[in-house]
This record gives sequence, C-alpha cells and structure tokens, in this order.
Amino acid sequence: MKDTQKQETMQTQNRLMPLSKSDNTASHVRLGKVGFDIDGVVADTMRAFIHIAREEYNIDTLHKGMITSYWLERCLPVPEEVVLRIVHQLVHEPLYVGLEPIQDAREALLAYAERSPLIFVTARPEQAPIHCWLQELLPELPEKRIQVIATGQHSAKALLLKDLGIETFIEDHLETCHQIHQAGIQAIVFNQPWNQGETPCRRLHSWQDFLQYL
Ligand SMILES: [Mg+2]
Repeated sequence: MKDTQKQETMQTQNRLMPLSKSDNTASHVRLGKVGFDIDGVVADTMRAFIHIAREEYNIDTLHKGMITSYWLERCLPVPEEVVLRIVHQLVHEPLYVGLEPIQDAREALLAYAERSPLIFVTARPEQAPIHCWLQELLPELPEKRIQVIATGQHSAKALLLKDLGIETFIEDHLETCHQIHQAGIQAIVFNQPWNQGETPCRRLHSWQDFLQYL
C-alpha cells in the first residue's frame, strides 16, 4: 500500500472510532469502588427548589440556569429566609415535596449496583429521610445494597471517602471535588450551572455518559 493510501485508510479509521470513548478516555475512570453524592447528582434538588418556590411562595421567575452558585441566596432573587425554609423541606421531607431524580440516574445506579453496592455520601445533616427517598427510587435493591452516610458538612467528605476506600466520587459541589481530588481520590464533577469554572477534574455531562463507562 502506498503511503498516501495508508494515510487515507488511517484517516477513515479515525473517523469511524467512537468519539465518546476516545474523547472521554473512559478507561481512566476507576470503577472499582465508586461513591455518589445525592443532591444535584442523583436528586434534581434545584428543580424541586424552583417548584416549591413557585407553588408555595408564588415566586415564578426562577429557572435552573439562574443557579450559578451553590449558595442559592447569592444568585436567586429569593429572600434568605425563604431559601432556608425550602431547603429545610428538601432536607426533611424529600418524599413529601416530590423530589425527582436527575434524568437516567436510576438506570445508571441500577447498572452500577450489579457490580458493587451503592455508597452515597451527602453533606445533608441527617441521612434517614434521603435514605428512604433512595429506597423508593431503587426498590429493586435490597436495603443492605444502599449505604447512605450524612456528614453534615462538605469539608468532611474527603477524609471520610478516604477511610471508606472510595476510588471515584461523583459530586456537583466544585470545592468539594477539589478537596477530594487533593486527597488522591478521583473526583468527577457532575456538570451543573453552579459548578462552572476551572477544574482539574473530569466532568460528567449526563448519566448516559456514566453508563458508557460501565
Ligand atoms: Mg450535591
């Protein structure tokens, strides 16, 4: 084969390579022991926030793209007192307020659960309400296949993950991702309007992308 022919063949082969694998370097995602954050990753908490603000507080000007900071009172035209009240509802009554999962989260978690138990680590102050929510979301899984740990604070996550032997953690709070990354754990940023900005961590744009890694 002449050199020019060889080159053309290679170019054709390159075009035919699945982009998702080569672009995302899927092989570099460590899947042995993955941990999951809940709010903003598995639960569409910000959407629920907007829903409650509209239904219960007549605030109908909000949409998800406006949430450019993790701290809602900094980016939304909502009084801090109302933010706190809605967050309180989301923390204590996730089932009652109709918290919904993020698209394809259920399918991805069930697929991962086939290889390993699910470990969720949340900065929520209590684990029982959101544990119930997860069991409702994943009724196929026996209780002991779902572990939920509530740290009460973001800064406690990195050390805890280290103790648990977590290799990879999926999280939407950028600062926490960086703390986890610094602790030598693979942090994956679940892409959201509030976590834009420079990061050394890989981004996950959807649960469909995660399913491709499995
Ligand atoms: Mg979160």
